[in-house]
Amino acid sequence: MSVTSKLTTLTLTLGMISGVSAADGFDPTKPVMTELKDGVYQYSQFFYNSLVVVTDEGVIITDPSGEARSKMMRKEINKLTDALVKKVIYSHDHFDHSRGGQIFKDEGAEFITQEKCTELMSRDLENRVVQPDTTYQDSYSIKLGDKQVDLHYYGPNDGDCMSIIHMPTDNVLMGVDWHLPGYVNEPYRLTAHNYVAILNTFERVLNELEFDTVLSGHMPASSPEAFKEDYRFNKALFDAVWEGMQKGKTTEELKNTVKLPEFSHWRGYEENLPAHIERMSYSIWHGN
Ligand SMILES: [Zn+2]
Repeated sequence: MSVTSKLTTLTLTLGMISGVSAADGFDPTKPVMTELKDGVYQYSQFFYNSLVVVTDEGVIITDPSGEARSKMMRKEINKLTDALVKKVIYSHDHFDHSRGGQIFKDEGAEFITQEKCTELMSRDLENRVVQPDTTYQDSYSIKLGDKQVDLHYYGPNDGDCMSIIHMPTDNVLMGVDWHLPGYVNEPYRLTAHNYVAILNTFERVLNELEFDTVLSGHMPASSPEAFKEDYRFNKALFDAVWEGMQKGKTTEELKNTVKLPEFSHWRGYEENLPAHIERMSYSIWHGN
């Protein structure tokens, strides 16, 4: 497949996420660097977002998300600073996020992730994931210049090694794949989605972390309000499915009857809700 047709496929696939398309004049190949706070940016391209933190002593980034994207991200960082990328955080193992970091490895960056990612990342048959240098178990603080980025492991999530990314001084939170505000995600993306565990993550984040700025791994923008609405969606889905299961309803019956009208304006609500009901039902039943 040529680079162009690969790119078109990628754009078509990921175009589903944002609710916008080339027809709207939106070009997902165009890199967008948005300043959220002093020295704190969201880098967006191909419907993937990275946190970019610029300090006098170097740059911290999350998720390369492919070679083409990381090359463009490197150029865009150059427009902000001459400093080297010193730290690359992998939010989780999934290859669409973790591949493509070699350009940062070449300039000496340290790659950091939760320890359970190591084994999963080593399985990349295409060998495009730079293997992590540093792993942690429960929490890890990255301090560089005047900035601090904390990683927290709250258990299984989308996959088994998700880091919750939080800047305690800047009050910034990033949720990758488990936080998709305003969007009832496509069914094929739910295979590793542990709904009960994700609900637990939302509750821990809301109880334990302070934030006034939120990034989603994919959606163009988020906010504390959008984050809380996303939590309410997860909770309403859990409550409705749990209640139905207690009454002895089958997953098929629940898929046909459960409605969450508060979220009917969300993208994908009509087409995708039944798959989420099914995933939640299995998640409650299996515990994953
Ligand atoms: Zn994922």
